[in-house]
Amino acid sequence: MGTIVLYPSPAMGHLVSMVELGKFTLNHYPGFAITVLVVNPPYNTGSTASYINHTSTTTPSITFHHLPSQPLDLGSYSSMEAINFELLRLSNHHVQQALESIASTTVISAFIIDFFCTPALSIAINLNIPTYHFYTSGAYSLSLFLYLPTLHQSTSKSYKDLDELLDVPGLPPIPPSDMPVPLLERTSIEYAFFLDVAMQFGRSSGILVNTFESLEQKALKLLSDGIYIPDGPTPPVFSIGPLTASDSAGEAGSVHECLKWLDAQPSQSVAFLCFGSLGLFSAEQLKEIAIGLERSEQRFLWVVRSPPSEDKSNRFQSPPAPNLDLLLPHGFLDQTKDRGFVVSSWAPQVDILNHGSVGGFVTHCGWNSVLEAVSAGVPMVAWPLYAEQKLNRLLLVEEMKLALPIDETEGGLVKAAEIEKRVRELMDSEGGNKIRERAQAKKEEAKQAMADGGSSRVALAKLVESWK
Ligand code: UDP
Repeated sequence: MGTIVLYPSPAMGHLVSMVELGKFTLNHYPGFAITVLVVNPPYNTGSTASYINHTSTTTPSITFHHLPSQPLDLGSYSSMEAINFELLRLSNHHVQQALESIASTTVISAFIIDFFCTPALSIAINLNIPTYHFYTSGAYSLSLFLYLPTLHQSTSKSYKDLDELLDVPGLPPIPPSDMPVPLLERTSIEYAFFLDVAMQFGRSSGILVNTFESLEQKALKLLSDGIYIPDGPTPPVFSIGPLTASDSAGEAGSVHECLKWLDAQPSQSVAFLCFGSLGLFSAEQLKEIAIGLERSEQRFLWVVRSPPSEDKSNRFQSPPAPNLDLLLPHGFLDQTKDRGFVVSSWAPQVDILNHGSVGGFVTHCGWNSVLEAVSAGVPMVAWPLYAEQKLNRLLLVEEMKLALPIDETEGGLVKAAEIEKRVRELMDSEGGNKIRERAQAKKEEAKQAMADGGSSRVALAKLVESWK
């Protein structure tokens, strides 16, 4: 067996799921060698370095090959997506060198790339290396993505200016404002990139998607029917998830204070609030959340980060640790100290979701967070912030019925009363219990998908067969 080269985009959620794919493959097919090409990002989206260190220690058979850093002037980019596209385009010749060097000593059985890494597709095809895409969001979202060129032709307007619902086969009608944020403006550089990448997917040898069959059955069936690429063949789609970290890569030997606090709380009594590696709120919104939590009278564990920097050149850097006394309403920490715990900046999310005291998750609907909650059987309140998260909310609420929605005001603010109502509903209502039961059932299905004979194991076996 040869080497599988994985090429993730450097943001936390993209890197982790790709490396977990490497572990999943090695667990069942230990004859392969796995090399991960790592682009060092000029931004920090969480603890990617500690995750890589942790993996190097626990799974030494995975090799991390760091590509040379690219200096970028972050202030001149309009979005994180634009930075990623540029970063990965500039890394292309290093990727070529790395592939040539690896191929000089071993056979590359497969090159698996994140969709942001699509500029490397032509290089690999020219080197005769079978190249697959790894789609880090779900199958419904992949359907929409592959359908983008068709949608593009159906209108000449930007989605942000459309009024009518968008019709994508197999998906609930999509309000145009729920389209992924980088696609809202038709003339933007992000839109052009996504559209181009969507068209390139047809050239790949296969598409791996981080989901499991019983979570997105309808979408997977329509994908394999090839309906989303009407003018050409659709590559085979392999649902090989849920690929999530099995634990939060914390400091060896130390237990985070919040986990000790959870140990002392009753079973399924705590609402966990966490908003991904990039989710930031204004000071005004943080205050509304605090008031809502206090009035909800529920137990909570809340990850608080500083508001976004006003300085344009710092926009894409992790903000400094928050000053909780200044940001939260006067007296809040004291008044809620018996039933609340606030974590500054970053928390061990996987460990928290799997703790028996957690009974609900208020999430920004990043796909990794969704899969982590599903794998832990935790029901959600969906509060999308960026990327394709509004689409994920639509699916979680309308299609999968694993989450409650949260309503924003016109200006995008979620008021304390709405937060109070939704947290209560999640933790202490008939409706909350219903989605809790569904979440518990999905947890079992997720486990089965990854077990011997399960749908994701069968898909992995087919994939490996195609590499031989
Ligand atoms: N995460 C974490 N602690 C935090 C915030 C995020 O461990 O305080 C992890 C989370 O468990 C998930 C990843 O960061 O694995 C975020 O990925 P997701 O796709 O949910 O959101 P993104 O950050 O890509 O928007």
